[in-house]
Amino acid sequence: MTSVRDARRKEILKELGLTPLWRARPENLPESSIQPLNPVAEELSPPEVPACSAPVTVTADPAKDRRIKILRMGWDELEASIAGCTACSLCQSRTRTVPGVGDRNADWLYVGEGPGAQEDATGEPFVGQAGKLLDNMLAAIELKRGRNVFITNIVKCRPPGNREPASYEAQQCEPYLARQIELIKPKLIIALGKVAAQNLLGTDSSVGSLRGRLHRCSGIPVIVTYHPAYLLRTLTAKAKAWEDLCFARSTMQSLENP
Ligand code: URA
Repeated sequence: MTSVRDARRKEILKELGLTPLWRARPENLPESSIQPLNPVAEELSPPEVPACSAPVTVTADPAKDRRIKILRMGWDELEASIAGCTACSLCQSRTRTVPGVGDRNADWLYVGEGPGAQEDATGEPFVGQAGKLLDNMLAAIELKRGRNVFITNIVKCRPPGNREPASYEAQQCEPYLARQIELIKPKLIIALGKVAAQNLLGTDSSVGSLRGRLHRCSGIPVIVTYHPAYLLRTLTAKAKAWEDLCFARSTMQSLENP
C-alpha cells in the first residue's frame, strides 16, 4: 500500500518537474512580523442578534451594513448572495459566479486570485490548466480537492480578459471570503500568488518575500506560495513551490499535534 502511494507520489513529482528535489524544510521557520493591515476577518464575529429581534440597520454606512449582513449569513444565504451580487462591475461580464468548492469543514483553505474563462463557464474554481497543476500539488501532499480542502478566490467573478482584480473589486468581495473563512474555520490558509497574498495579508510585498514563513489572517496561519498559473510559465519557481508545499505539510502536522 505504502509503496503504491510512494510510486504515485513519485509520478506526481515527475509531472511537476520536481523529482530530484524532494527536500524537507528546516523546522521552526520564523513567523512573519507582517500583520494584515485590513484583516479579512476583523469583524468576523458578527454581533449577536437576539433571535426574536427584527433585522436592524446597524450603521449609517451602507458598505459596513452590507459587510455586517454578509458576516451573519449561513452557507445557503451566502452562496445565494454571491450568485446575485452586483456590488462591482464584474457582475456585468460574468457568466457564472464562482463561490468556491470543497469540504465546508476543511482544515485546508486554498485561496487563488479570481476565476478565469473556464471557471466562469463552469462555476468551479481552478478547472483549467492551472487547476490541473493545483490538483497535482494537492496530490503531492496527499490532499484531494473536496476532501478536507476548500478552494476559493479573492474575487468570485471573472475579471474580463483575465486581468488582475482591481482593489475596489477585491474590497467588494472581501466580506464573502471573510464569511467563508469564519464558516470553514480552516487550520491553515494557503495563499496562491500575489493577489491572494496581498489581499489576505494587507500588504504590497512580493510573493518571493512573503513565502517561507508563517503569516496570520484573523489568527489563522497563512502560507504564501506561487500561483499555479505562474508555475506553468516559470519552471524555475517549481522547486520553491515544492519547498512551500513541504512547509505547509509540516505546519499542518504541527497544528494537528501541537
Ligand atoms: N486562477 C485563479 O486564481 N483562480 C481560479 O479559479 C482559476 C485560475
